[in-house]
Order: sequence, then structure tokens, then C-alpha cells
Amino acid sequence: MRNRVRSADDLARFVQPTPDEVAAIERLARRFHFVITPYYAALMDPDDPECPIRRQVVPRTAELEDPTGLPDPLDEVAHSPVKNVIRVYPDRIAFCVNNECALYCRFCLRKRMVGDEEWTMKRRELGEALEWIRRSPEIRDVLLTGGDPLVFADDRLDWLLSELRSIPHVEIIRLGTRLPVTLPFRVTEALCRMLERHHPIWVNTHFNHPRELTPEATEACDRLSRAGIPMGNQSVLLRGINDDPGTMKALCEGLVRMRVRPYYCYQAQRLEGTAHFRVAIERGVEIFRSLRGRTSGFAIPQYVLDTPHGKVPLSHPYLRGREGDDVIVETYEGRVWRERNPPERSA
Ligand SMILES: *Cc1c(COP(=O)(O)O)cnc(C)c1O
Ligand code: SF4
Repeated sequence: MRNRVRSADDLARFVQPTPDEVAAIERLARRFHFVITPYYAALMDPDDPECPIRRQVVPRTAELEDPTGLPDPLDEVAHSPVKNVIRVYPDRIAFCVNNECALYCRFCLRKRMVGDEEWTMKRRELGEALEWIRRSPEIRDVLLTGGDPLVFADDRLDWLLSELRSIPHVEIIRLGTRLPVTLPFRVTEALCRMLERHHPIWVNTHFNHPRELTPEATEACDRLSRAGIPMGNQSVLLRGINDDPGTMKALCEGLVRMRVRPYYCYQAQRLEGTAHFRVAIERGVEIFRSLRGRTSGFAIPQYVLDTPHGKVPLSHPYLRGREGDDVIVETYEGRVWRERNPPERSA
């Protein structure tokens, strides 16, 4: 964390920044932090400015050209019953426990708050959110996010998990973290021993490209799995990074080999400064349709659009409709199949 890349000069130790990147680092520095871990920077291809690792974390002036982007497309601020809690569903919440990540992704949905030094999370604030959860018996599932909860030191995270575990109605705790991808050494044996004292814990991580599936990342995920933690992955569909069937298939199959279940793939939001990452939804639907039947079913994540009212699955319409007593469906190869469908039982 101490040795992170923070300037164009630091970046030049790994790749030669283009004039556009140098200009963007300068002009965007105040708006959205530029920080990369040396580990992640070392995954960049030094000869390719379009490298999918580089494009995720090195700014471009294209970020300044996004007339339709919004600062908070999910209206999270309005869905916050208490500071740092986002509630869209009756029984579960996203709890933003900090605003720090190991590096800052250029497409980050929480751009408006991560990396902002002013937005320092105090223990008192965490306490207020915990108090709200304690008073809300319908909350059975708490998703710790941020920022990144694994940026916390073990003892601080241990305190937070103990507080949550002292609330009887909190059944499961999930951690959303990109550190297995960006700083896999953070996943120490000591961390895993601490986490397993607070089961049931689930972890969702965030791999976007097969090149991120390194031996170090594989070992980090393996340590978490061996601590009894079911591992899932949430990726973002990003133009020029993973928006083709071959790359997505390699990512999903690589994750499954690491025992990480592809869970969601998000449509990139209409978030300010990210027009150059967005992909048409029809294209996303076709990418995931191309996987169906052609790889293990559990290697295929659900492609979703997040909205202020919850996540919406985006899928090819395999269910074509009804004809008389039959329902008409389409197979993965595009064949039509008729299935006799029992009538709906009336009450
Ligand atoms: C995604 C999300 C959840 C969890 O949704 P699941 O579909 O259960 O994974 C909960 N709260 C918020 C605000 C979310 O964005
Ligand atoms: S790790 Fe997640 S929260 Fe942090 S900058 Fe990247 S997308 Fe945003």
C-alpha cells in the first residue's frame, strides 16, 4: 500500500504513459484518485496502451467527455436510511464501511465517495449504522462494501464483524472486496482464521479479465475457500476489456477453476466519466447467450442492470410464449421446443 503508483512518473516504472494518459492523470487527479498497487501495475502489458489491465486503472482524457453521465446513477444517496447504509431491498443492505481501496477503478460506481480524504469514516459513524441495523429486525443479510472492507486492519474488521454477529437477526455477512484481484497478499492466513470465527461469511470479489487470474490471486481465493467461505465474482461488462464472448468465457472458466463462482456481471452504469466503457445491453445479452450450453452452467453469471429499485436480470428471451396448451421455448442452439404446459391451477 505504501509503494503504490500515484503519478505518471511512478507509472513509467511499469509502462510508458501516453501523452493522453499524462494529461488525464494531471487533469483528473483532483476529481478521482489515481492510485495503483505495484502488483496490479506489474500485470500491465508494457507494449500495449489498450491493455485491459491498464485501461481499468489508468485515466484517459475520455473521462472528461461524457455528457450524459451522472454522479450517482443509482440514487444511492436517496436510498440511505442512515449514513453509509444503502437499502434497496427489504431484507438486506449494502453497508459502506470505508472509502478506501487498494487502487481506484476508473469505472467505479462509488466514485463520488471513494478516495476522498474528506470522507473519513469514523468509528462513531460505523456505530450509528450498526445501531440502525440492530433496530431493524428485518435485515438478515449485510453486505460489507465501501471502498473495500479488506483495507481495514484485521483487528478493526474483527471488531466490526463481532458487532454484527452480536445482532441476532443478522444471519449472513458478505464482504465485497477487490483485494484478491488488486493486492492478493492481503488475504493472509491470519485474516482467514479471523473471518472463519464469524461464519456464515460469504465473499464476492471482482475479477474482470482472465489476465487477473494469476497464481497469487488463485492462492488468495484458495485460502478464503479453505476457510469455508463460498467465493463469488461480480464483474462489470467493459468495452474493449471483456465485451467479447471469448474473453468472457476465459474469465468465467478460469474463475470456476479457482472455485470462484461467477455471480453477477453488471451492465456499466450511466456514471459520469465512463461513456468510453459502456456497452449496448443487446451486445451484453448476446455475449451471455453465447455461453449458454457451451460451458458449465455454473460458470455463467447473471447479467444484470442495477437500478435504484434493485437489480434486473438481462437475458435472451428463451421463453417465447404460449400456444394453446403448449409453451414455446428456444434451446441454446436456437431450436424451438414445444412443451405441454399444465394449466395454471385456479384457487
Ligand atoms: C446488490 C445489492 C444487494 C445484494 O443483492 P443480491 O441480489 O442479494 O446479491 C443488496 N443491497 C444493495 C443496495 C445492492 O446494490
Ligand atoms: S475496488 Fe471496487 S469500490 Fe474500489 S475503486 Fe474499484 S470498483 Fe470502486
